[in-house]
Amino acid sequence: MDPVRDVIIVGSGPAGLTAAVYTARANLNPLVIEGFPGAGGQLMLTTDVENYPGFPDGIMGPELMEKFRAQAARFGAEYLTANAERVDFSSAPFGVWAEGREFRSKTVIISTGASARMLGLPAEARLLGHGLSTCATCDGFFFRGQEIAVVGGGDSAIEEATFLTRFATKVSVIHRRDELRASKIMQERAFANPSISFVWNSVVDDVIGAEKVEGLALRNVVTGEISELKVGGVFVAIGHDPNTSLFTGQIDLDPGGYILTHDGSKTSVPGVFACGDVQDHVYRQAITAAGSGCMAAIDAERYLEAEGHQ
Ligand code: NAP
Repeated sequence: MDPVRDVIIVGSGPAGLTAAVYTARANLNPLVIEGFPGAGGQLMLTTDVENYPGFPDGIMGPELMEKFRAQAARFGAEYLTANAERVDFSSAPFGVWAEGREFRSKTVIISTGASARMLGLPAEARLLGHGLSTCATCDGFFFRGQEIAVVGGGDSAIEEATFLTRFATKVSVIHRRDELRASKIMQERAFANPSISFVWNSVVDDVIGAEKVEGLALRNVVTGEISELKVGGVFVAIGHDPNTSLFTGQIDLDPGGYILTHDGSKTSVPGVFACGDVQDHVYRQAITAAGSGCMAAIDAERYLEAEGHQ
């Protein structure tokens, strides 16, 4: 077994890697269990990132994450390219298992993120970042003057559809039922918006386009009728799943499976901290995840100091 560490970071998106930069610069020699094949998180699945401050010309998502990674490595962060398989937070030093090895650490920072639910179509992998997106705040700007579609009927879908009317000439909401799940106030706002139309009782059978989205093959689940909708972009907004299966029974989660934090990044287990989308289902931005990663690093550092570990 390795010597007991000060900090283990599980997850390597903007939250985890920011925590790595800060804890490395505080001489805590963090080990980042970065995941495989998910290292780098959701930004690895995007193309241009135009809203991350400091990059006035924009930057590609994977390139941004490589810069985060290199910055933490420069200050001594170590990486293990594997998934954490098991954790034991019942007593300190906490146990984390990866690649069949056991690691022990005085603190653990969890930054395993969330995964956007996808429709499960083969075309999604090909077109993600090429007209198909899971984040309107991130990518809406690329669809100025185009007709686009949003899939889903919850608050996210309706919020995204409303937001996207700032850019698109027309937004079609594709929903599998004839009634929205979204809150009444958001529904009313969307129904009153002349740029939003609704395609009820319909599912997406396929996303059309070889290199970029050109349209959707839709199927009416009541009549069985097949139709094609020409759109330049599609936003899949059918919810997110936090990546917390590893932590079930170890720390407190909310009913949606997100990690509950208090007083910054503290979880229900002293010494275990959480940051990024794994504990935030509201903002879900790279910059907010990075900010919360910084908070978790500072909280871990203060915890170690208070416990007399430093
Ligand atoms: P959600 O409430 O779970 O809604 C998901 C939507 O996607 C539902 O309409 C669902 O249809 C549909 N859906 C799920 N799987 C599908 C599939 N395979 N194919 C087609 N459609 C599918 O998720 P969410 O909208 O992301 O919201 C998550 C939570 O965040 C909610 O508690 C929500 O209130 C909250 N939120 C709040 C705000 C706000 O207040 N501003 C904004 C965003 C999110 P069915 O309706 O048929 O199940």
